[in-house]
Order: sequence, then structure tokens, then C-alpha cells
Amino acid sequence: LAEKLQNTLGKLKSKGKLSEKDVKDAMREVKLALLEADVNFKVVKQFVDKVKERAVGQEVMESLTPGQHVIKIVNEELTSLMGDVQSKINFSSKPPTVIMLVGLQGAGKTTTAGKLGNYLKKQGKKPLLVACDVYRPAAIKQLKVVGGQLDIPVFEMGDKVSPVEIAKQGLAHGVDSGRDVVIIDTAGRLHIDEQLMDELVNIKSELRPHEILLVIDSMTGQDAVNVAESFNEALGIDGVILTKLDGDTRGGAALSVKAVTQKPVKFVGMGEKLNELEPFYPDRMASRILGMGDILGLIEKAQANIDENKARELEQRIRKQQFTFEDFLDQLEQVKKLGPLNKVLEMIPGMGSAKQLKDIDFDDKEIVKIQAIIQSMTRDERNNPEIINGSRRKRIAKGSGTSVQEVNRLLKQFEQTKKMMKKFADMEKGFKKGGNMK
Ligand code: GDP
Ligand code: MG
Repeated sequence: LAEKLQNTLGKLKSKGKLSEKDVKDAMREVKLALLEADVNFKVVKQFVDKVKERAVGQEVMESLTPGQHVIKIVNEELTSLMGDVQSKINFSSKPPTVIMLVGLQGAGKTTTAGKLGNYLKKQGKKPLLVACDVYRPAAIKQLKVVGGQLDIPVFEMGDKVSPVEIAKQGLAHGVDSGRDVVIIDTAGRLHIDEQLMDELVNIKSELRPHEILLVIDSMTGQDAVNVAESFNEALGIDGVILTKLDGDTRGGAALSVKAVTQKPVKFVGMGEKLNELEPFYPDRMASRILGMGDILGLIEKAQANIDENKARELEQRIRKQQFTFEDFLDQLEQVKKLGPLNKVLEMIPGMGSAKQLKDIDFDDKEIVKIQAIIQSMTRDERNNPEIINGSRRKRIAKGSGTSVQEVNRLLKQFEQTKKMMKKFADMEKGFKKGGNMK
């Protein structure tokens, strides 16, 4: 979806003056892209009508950069479609806060129970996980393993007791043991059925949870949205957690869930690992879909993983264009902590679609090689790479056990990285100045 929209809107961007027809044509393409991305058709229609209405109006025609202006409108409307602000968990003023996770089988409830517990634990909460799935073989064991990995206690009563009873006892246990968040992992079914809903309704009326969060698999696209509608009607939900967004290339579910159910997406699952849960920010998602990159997400991620002083220092150097191989070497160490590089690159504006960068093989072996090459440079060379001529290249290759081609490639990559970082720093400056559009 991102690529389609980028293409369409890219065409507009370069135009100085827009006619009504330009806008209409672009909107037709946006509409197709959204439908193809499996966004609910009613949502698409409303969305396109709204953008058209605003875009064809006076403000755009009179603006100096009408193309940019339309993109801004699309961005704003995408954001508002997904909910405008980031929705938080409603914590009870009288702990424990009870959070009930519901959803179909395989949606990711058990994994998400762990992820959410982990997320809240990092914020200083004391979660308890309660195993109420007595149907799926090994479901209880799965939750216990997850809890064990995270060092979060798990309450269970085996699979011979009714889920309602387990939930009740679990809450009581949470109160007794001083836990301030109780997360209930419930059973799912392959399809929505009455028995499942009855059970969930019973748990709900027994526990009066502060949050009922529906876990849905974003890869199922429009189905996920239908599931959300049914659960909301039968049970009433407070929000949605979209899982497997890491594998969702189309983004349809993320876009339509709020519009269809009126319930916000609160978190997104970005992978199988227990730290891969993120709060959902509609504005960032909109920018990401539009291919502007999730700058704030990247900064947040970097802040969580990178030594803060070093990061600040680096930022200064990038701004002043003093970034050298010394920094690069330093950075490689830091970057390893960030996770797979292609993931990091995707978050940088424009990089999502920069094919040549995606093709660069940034695996760990490569990083070791790069480190060897840089270590074979003299201090002078690291600080002034432009002095690295042919004979120096040969010497470096020999010293690092690589080839001249590989040294050449690194020098080129370094230049690209430097440019990319400059761009990143500039964008960030733009963000701080105001608004997320330039
Ligand atoms: P449940 O039946 O709803 O409890 O689902 P599980 O928690 O057992 O998850 C089903 C599968 O989905 C497991 O293999 C999980 O590892 C996987 N999964 C859950 N969340 C995510 C996610 O955000 N990304 C990816 N890639 N996989 C996920
Ligand atoms: Mg489960």
C-alpha cells in the first residue's frame, strides 16, 4: 500500500499547480490502492470523499505547493481514520487493573498476554497472567513458559476447572499477592460461536474488567475487521491489539478497524518475540503508509537501545557533517543493538522504497567484515575517507583480509549512509519545527 500511495502522491508532489482533474485522478488511484490493501469499501469511500472535498477546495488551489498540500490532507485524514491520538490503557484507580484478552484461535492472545505483561512490567507495574484457556492442548503450559521467560507469575488451575472460576480465583490471587495488573488469557475458537461468546460474557460479568482488548491478526485483513465488529457487538470491547503487523504488507486492517468498530487500536504486535509489542500511534502509522518513515518510532527505538550521550553527540556530528569512519565503527556496535538493519532502514523516510539500500546485505557477517576493514584504516583515513586512494585501498584490503572491491563497496556505502543520516537529521529538525509535513 505504501508503495502505491507513494507513487500516486509522488506524481502530485512535483506539480506546481493542480487542476481539479489532477486531484480527482490521484484520488481514484488512492481509492484503488486502498481497496487493494483490503480496506473496507465503506471506509474507502468516506475517506476519498473527505479528501476530495478538502483538496478541491480553495485552500489547496491557492496554496503555493498544492501537491504537498494534498499529501498533507491525505496524511491528516489517514491519521484521523485510525483515531487521531494514541489510546492508552485505562488503569483502575483501585488496583489491580483487570485486562481481558479475547479473540480467535491463533490470533496471538497468549503471546500478547506475555508481551503486554512485559511492557507493563517495564513501566514498573506488577502483572499477573491468568490462564483461562482450558480447551487448547498445552495452552496453559504455553502461558507458563511465556511467564517464566519474563519472570512474571502465572496463575493456573489446570484444565478441569471452568474458565470463569479460574478467572475469579486468579483475580483473588492477584489481590492477595499484591499484583496491580491482572491479565486474563482466554480461549479462542476457529470461528465465532455462541459458546465462546457466552463464556467470555460470563467472565466479563464476573470480573468486570477495566479493559477488554480484542486481539486480531492483521494479516487476515478485512476478516479481522469483521471479527472485531462481531466481538464488539456480542461482548463489547474497549480496544484492539493488532498482531502480526510485521507480516502485513497491505495495512488494510490497521486502517479500517477504528472506522468500522469505533474502537481504537491500542497496541500492535511487530514480531514473535516478547518485546515486539508497541503502542499504536495513528499519526506515525499514517506517515509510514505514506512512506515518510516512522521517524519518531526510530528515535524512540534508538533511545531505548542506544547510549544516550553517544546518540546526542552523534546527532551533533551528523548535523555538522562531521560523521567519520570512527563514528561509523562506533555506530555499528550500537546498530547491532537496534535489531535487523533492514527493519531500521524501513523506518527512515524514503528508505522504505529505496530498493538499492534494501539490497545491501547488512547481515552480521557483513558487519564483522566492515569492522575489520575500518580497523585496517589509519586514524587519518577514518577521519578523512577522501584520502583513501588506490594504493591505500589495496593496503586496507590486505590488512583486513578482504578484497579491494569490498573496500570500495564499503566506501560507497559509507557515503550513502552519511547522506541518509543527514536526511534523517534534517527531517527530524523539520519535525521539531512544527507539523510532520514539510
Ligand atoms: P492464541 O491462540 O490467540 O493464544 O495465539 P498465540 O499467542 O498462541 O499465537 C499464535 C502464533 O502467532 C504464534 O506462533 C505466535 O508466535 C504468533 N504471533 C503472535 N503475535 C505475533 C506478531 O505480532 N508477529 C508475528 N510474526 N507472529 C506473532
Ligand atoms: Mg492462546
